Amino acid sequence: MEKMYQKDINSIKDKAVKAAKNLDSVGVFRMFGSDILKRGNQTYVQCPNPDCGASAKSRDCSVGTTGLWHCFACKSGGGAPQAYHLMTGLTWLESCITLAYQVGAITDNEYNDLMKGSASVKDKLNSDTLVYQQFDEAKSIESVAVKAPADRLDLVYRHLIRMPQMALNDEGYKHLLQRGLTSQEIMEEEYFSYDMEFSTKELLKSIQSEKPDFVADDFSGVPGFYFLFKNETNGWWVFTAPCPHSVGIPLRDSYGRIIALQMRNLRARKKDAKYFYLSSLTRNDKRGKTGYGCSTGTPAAISFPKGDIVSPICYIGEGHFKMREIAKEGVVAISIQGINSYNSVADEVKQMMSCETVIEKSQNCRDHTLGFCIVFDSDMYHKYEVVTSCISLAAYLKVKFGYKRDVSVMIWKPEYGKGYDDYKSYCIEHGLDYRENFLRISSSDYKKVADEGIKIAKERYLELYPGERQYTQKEEFRKILFEEIYVKRMSKLL
Ligand SMILES: [Zn+2]
Repeated sequence: MEKMYQKDINSIKDKAVKAAKNLDSVGVFRMFGSDILKRGNQTYVQCPNPDCGASAKSRDCSVGTTGLWHCFACKSGGGAPQAYHLMTGLTWLESCITLAYQVGAITDNEYNDLMKGSASVKDKLNSDTLVYQQFDEAKSIESVAVKAPADRLDLVYRHLIRMPQMALNDEGYKHLLQRGLTSQEIMEEEYFSYDMEFSTKELLKSIQSEKPDFVADDFSGVPGFYFLFKNETNGWWVFTAPCPHSVGIPLRDSYGRIIALQMRNLRARKKDAKYFYLSSLTRNDKRGKTGYGCSTGTPAAISFPKGDIVSPICYIGEGHFKMREIAKEGVVAISIQGINSYNSVADEVKQMMSCETVIEKSQNCRDHTLGFCIVFDSDMYHKYEVVTSCISLAAYLKVKFGYKRDVSVMIWKPEYGKGYDDYKSYCIEHGLDYRENFLRISSSDYKKVADEGIKIAKERYLELYPGERQYTQKEEFRKILFEEIYVKRMSKLL
């Protein structure tokens, strides 16, 4: 074999490192049969570090959208090469060579030259493996911007909302009473206010009373927390600023774990967002460092009925308050926080189906296949965006759960109210039975009517305003759409 010079080795090495670092580490975890759990845009895997203290069953390791992973238990992390290195015992650079070879980024000869070469070639190959590896690990800190696992979010948030500074104030309490919630319900849901700053140290103490090994760095990955740098290297963890005149809503998953804190702005004017999350994705400190904040993503929150689940239909709609109202009827209700934010629904439903609470509560409908019902506001008769996202949500559910799955859409007379909660109180006030005055129509029927309505409304509108492009947002178009979808078609069913 020809003698290999450092520069030849380096040129192959550079090629291989580049290719291997571009790989998504999920591929490596899959290669080794790691248990992979998807939650919307989050991926959790078992830690590849053999020295990690986490139990083999727990999936404390999170892979970000960048393909980098980070373990919340042992703090190790990196890209695909780092995972491969930990799982095979090859050095970090040998892992790059192997991965690059597997994806065809280097040739058979190049692979053989380096991996099957003399001891001196191996030395040259590995000469600076540690430098590379540390760089990879340091970069993985960026993937801390990925959300922590649900158990940790729940632990932190449970203690957080019980801090005295987070107690529900009068303004919030009154708002909830006006919405028709009882004081018992307000207590059970643990609504809160966030008017005053609190000390992270006090919070830490409270968490440690439940979990003694919890340390400040464990706040990483919990949306709302970010690292405030005191100087180049040191600092402390802080929580996003107070938001007065808001009611805080703990959003829960199918295990009852708090997975996000949502705020309802009580003084929202037309331009403000009514609902927002306590999140820290965009938090920067004065030095412009990122502060390792992260976002809640698009969680799907679950409301269970108090008693048994009486009907095997899972209701999906926008907003916590409306969906918990529906859950009272003895069904599971999933709230999405925005009509297009449904990408974690399927994973949450799958988790829910294996959940003890559901199995216990659904004795009455054990042998039925779960169906879905979409509950959107009554603007789904005239707002183009709402109509189309209702159709896409139905299509998404069919793709995820099979085309034979029963997916329906709930409709009622729009004059009875915009949201389900408005509809229900209208019926009660007017002596109508709110259980009798709505219909569930199949999503394919809804789509048929909606498609037809949109097509004709478009034609009618363009006849009036030829060449208009952004018509779907126009008030006039909405009026025509309402006539075509609701007045001429859907109202005939009600
Ligand atoms: Zn670990």
